[in-house]
Amino acid sequence: MAHDEPSKSAVQTKLVIRNIGLLLSGDLTNPILDADTVVAIGDRIAAVGKEKDIDTSGATVTIDAKCTALAPGLIDSHVHPVCGDWTPRQNQLGWIDSYLHGGVTTMVSAGEVHTPGRPKDIVGLKAMAIFAQRVFQAFRPGGVKIYAGAPILEHGMVEDDFKELAAAGVKILGEVGLGSVKDGKTAHQMVSWARKYGIQSTIHTGGPSIPGSSLIDKDMVLETDADVIGHVNGGHTALPDNQITALCESSTRALEIVHNGNERAGLLALRTAMELKQLHRVILGTDSPAGSGVQPLGMVRMIALLSSLGEIPAEVAICLATGNTAKMRNLDCGLIAPGREASFVLMDKAQHSAGKNLLDSIQKGDLPGISMIIIDGVISAHRSRNTPPATVVPEVVNR
Ligand SMILES: [Zn+2]
Repeated sequence: MAHDEPSKSAVQTKLVIRNIGLLLSGDLTNPILDADTVVAIGDRIAAVGKEKDIDTSGATVTIDAKCTALAPGLIDSHVHPVCGDWTPRQNQLGWIDSYLHGGVTTMVSAGEVHTPGRPKDIVGLKAMAIFAQRVFQAFRPGGVKIYAGAPILEHGMVEDDFKELAAAGVKILGEVGLGSVKDGKTAHQMVSWARKYGIQSTIHTGGPSIPGSSLIDKDMVLETDADVIGHVNGGHTALPDNQITALCESSTRALEIVHNGNERAGLLALRTAMELKQLHRVILGTDSPAGSGVQPLGMVRMIALLSSLGEIPAEVAICLATGNTAKMRNLDCGLIAPGREASFVLMDKAQHSAGKNLLDSIQKGDLPGISMIIIDGVISAHRSRNTPPATVVPEVVNR
């Protein structure tokens, strides 16, 4: 999703983060890096390695991580933004800024479906998608990047509509099944048109979310063949177990597990993907704001849930919320590697956790204490106002 970049300042900043005790890469094939230093020039990672091997001179900002952990900023693969930082679903202001304090630096819209009076005619839904793409590209609470402008499929859309949307900058479809298109044949045709013009698709999976939404079962999901099997664990009502395992086995598409879904079904999807050796397909989101509310800590709660009850190492669970999603959704964040977006979350074991270190604390089901969030090489927040307090926090040693 290569959106146009906002204009950058002429002066290049150089951010050096040193004394990192645990460097989590976001990459499933190598989740822990043997490195203690990250350098970012402007909004990109320039170097990752041992401090003695890296040019740290001329830093505009130096952060001493105090031997705590650094990971890529978390990506929420499934949000429903509406209007700026307000959600009418729960009539709450400032929800995006609250998610920043839960370590989220990037969000992907699964449709601006909670917009009061959402237009369902084709001209109207196209206009709303283009409008949402534009406003969220320009409006970034706390620096959080929101990829929005995700139209909901309605009957009557033709190939030219997808061509027109793509030309106008629309890159994603809202959840298939939330509009009038609820049959696999039509949905498959529209998803194929979208794909032809570079628009990625996600399908709602499971029972209706709220009155007016409807059941999408395994057969509809497989026939539609969207790029992302949205909330494979339901949102909130899950499909029967045999349908969830069939989706894991019969499709190669991304398997999205969300906070506002059925937790037991989420663990089933995780275990099935692991048995199939296809953990790279698993990506995480919150599916919020929704009827279940707004969850600033939804992403770290998912990491702790899947690590503790799903019994996967915490560093692997973090990959599902970062690198996996970036790869499945063609984003240039989510991995600690030169050339990637310089967006990071620094964390440590929460104060008084029974875990012996950060990873052990997450594997025991505790949430990490987030101590700093950096987006595009710029500090967005210091100690999180929402997580349990980190035991040790990094220090800015010069600016
Ligand atoms: Zn849904």
